[in-house]
Amino acid sequence: MPEQSLDIECSHCHNTAHYKVGHDGEDILEASLEHLKGKTKIHIKSLIAKHKIDKADFGYTIYTCPTCHTLSNPYDVRVEYDEIMVFQPFYKCQKCNITLVKAKQPYTSYTCRECGK
Ligand SMILES: [Zn+2]
Ligand SMILES: [Zn+2]
Repeated sequence: MPEQSLDIECSHCHNTAHYKVGHDGEDILEASLEHLKGKTKIHIKSLIAKHKIDKADFGYTIYTCPTCHTLSNPYDVRVEYDEIMVFQPFYKCQKCNITLVKAKQPYTSYTCRECGK
């Protein structure tokens, strides 16, 4: 999926937050490496080097915190390899330290980071 930009405006304070979905460039797992950081990047590199990759999905994804309902926009990656294995990192809310879940449409129903509505 090509990278798309989304602007989500708060109906209360009219603050507009920018989010991205998908990824630019080639549809091969190597293309995700420049966007990944830390342990996830090291792990993906070793998967590419040592395992048979069956399926890879990656790109910017909109997540939400189940507690404070604000949105986050990490570069997400999910890899199926060696026929039965799956690697997918977890993301945590920086405020609540709770594992984020994928956000569902409509994105305007989530809490605004600026005004909290
Ligand atoms: Zn707002
Ligand atoms: Zn939270």
